Amino acid sequence: MKYIELAGLYQRLEKTTLKTLKTKYVAEFLRGVEDPKLLEILPYLILGKVFPDWDERELGVGEKLLIKAVSMATGVNAEEIENSVKDTGDLGESVALALKKRKQRSFFSQPLTIERVYGTFVKVAETSGERSQDRKLKYLANLYMDAKPEEGKYLTRTILGTMRTGVAEGILRDAIAEAFKVKAELVERAYMLTSDFGYVTRTAKMEGNEGLSRVQIQVGKPIRPMLAQVAANIEEALKEMGGKAAFEIKYDGARVQVHKDGERVTIYSRRLENVTRSIPEVVERIKEYIKAEKAIVEGELVAVGENDRPRPFQFVLRRFRRKYNIEEMIEKIPLELNLFDILYVNGQGMIDAQFRERRHSLEEIVEEGEGIRLAVQLVTDDAGKAEEFYHRALELGHEGVMVKRLDSVYEPGNRGKKWLKVKPTMENLDLVIIGAEWGEGRRSHVFASYLLGAYDPGQGVFLPVGKVGSGFTDEDLVEFTKMLKPLVIREEGKNVEIEPKVVIQVTYQEIQKSPKYESGFALRFPRYVALREDKTPEEADTLERIAQLYELQERFKAGRK
Ligand code: ATP
Repeated sequence: MKYIELAGLYQRLEKTTLKTLKTKYVAEFLRGVEDPKLLEILPYLILGKVFPDWDERELGVGEKLLIKAVSMATGVNAEEIENSVKDTGDLGESVALALKKRKQRSFFSQPLTIERVYGTFVKVAETSGERSQDRKLKYLANLYMDAKPEEGKYLTRTILGTMRTGVAEGILRDAIAEAFKVKAELVERAYMLTSDFGYVTRTAKMEGNEGLSRVQIQVGKPIRPMLAQVAANIEEALKEMGGKAAFEIKYDGARVQVHKDGERVTIYSRRLENVTRSIPEVVERIKEYIKAEKAIVEGELVAVGENDRPRPFQFVLRRFRRKYNIEEMIEKIPLELNLFDILYVNGQGMIDAQFRERRHSLEEIVEEGEGIRLAVQLVTDDAGKAEEFYHRALELGHEGVMVKRLDSVYEPGNRGKKWLKVKPTMENLDLVIIGAEWGEGRRSHVFASYLLGAYDPGQGVFLPVGKVGSGFTDEDLVEFTKMLKPLVIREEGKNVEIEPKVVIQVTYQEIQKSPKYESGFALRFPRYVALREDKTPEEADTLERIAQLYELQERFKAGRK
């Protein structure tokens, strides 16, 4: 299939902001694809990616290398391409311009096919070692040599991960349903179980509703995590659970999903990225202490400090980020895995089993050892004992407790009431940076405050709920400015609009109702706490959640009077 057809789709998608139209365009496009292999690749390309997030492969191509490749292919000076970004505002557009100016096209020029583009991306991703940059350069230059300007624009955006066609997972799901006349709920279910849009699209086309409903958990493909809602206190949580529940320590670390297949262990982060390589000591412990041949288990990875007290979750994220000198980090930031769930064991999917059975099965296959434990749990119907357990957890330096319904099944990707969390403070919020303001005086070269957005999944947009300028160190501001500059969409005076990509955690004094923002809410005195690299923008807190927290807060206030 010609790549220009895909470029045409991107173009149509860019021209409309309407979700229904976007869905229709994607559906029409997918419907026209016959080759099942291609159907496995296309969903990712449509999302502006090459591989699913959980695939370890990445292109590893920065702007510099890309510009060099385009320069090689077109004969246009690299500096000229770079400079033109100031006018176009987008390297994709600048590459298209360079391709228009191209001195000569090779006599042997071949129209690009999607298969070839994808094949080249795979080669680029799999190139490593000595002189890998040179080889990547050659592969890319070859692509650009045969690319039309419009194609070059989208190749560039795909390579750099800056597609911006506004197609997110929800649109893709609906488009798959529309294209192959299958149920959206079944597409969603299959996706929640496998996180693999390629596989889901192919199954939808080849096997329809029936095939989709047969989709099962697979070792090696991460499952969307089940999530919790907040409860005001232990008593309310216990009531919600029907009088009896499992209380567990809520560890403050990073959630991981561990897939074990014999000697092969893969570990995924909360946003389902493959973090296996950064934590080899955890891999070894899994091999040693998990007694099942094949299993998928979940737990919270915690950084432990002096006297075994937990350290803030950012320490674990530092471990995930580290690519080199990992040994040194193992010493500096020791980790402990606290396992709390099991989703699969030896050929058997466990998500439809009740929580109490899952815990039992987890206890059967996990041998507790150094750095690997079962989450500490108390099953009770006694509010007093639960309260005691909660306070003990806090004394030990943990975040709070999780309260789980004993008869509940595991609901992938759902934030329901089967799991509740109780913490002593108002819940911090994870929000997305959607805008920023340049500072003044000493801070005129950095963004000094940030506009925060909450996610509205219905519309697929991020609505502002406040501006945060406190809690940042000078270094933080420099880091954030560097991180956000490539994401600037528009600049107006001192204000910039930013593509919603970066999630941060903030505290605040209160949530207020506010007519000022379209969201209807505003945070009073928000303060920056940490970067939440483990969350995608779609996993940030939603408007609905803010509304729930507002209700809780008001009940809290009323109770205190
Ligand atoms: P948070 O910022 O509170 O971690 P979240 O959106 O990541 O929120 P929630 O579902 O709201 O996730 O809260 C549950 C989270 O708490 C899990 O994702 C997991 O990372 C963590 N956690 C710690 N201990 C446990 C436990 N015993 N059982 C389940 N989750 C736990």
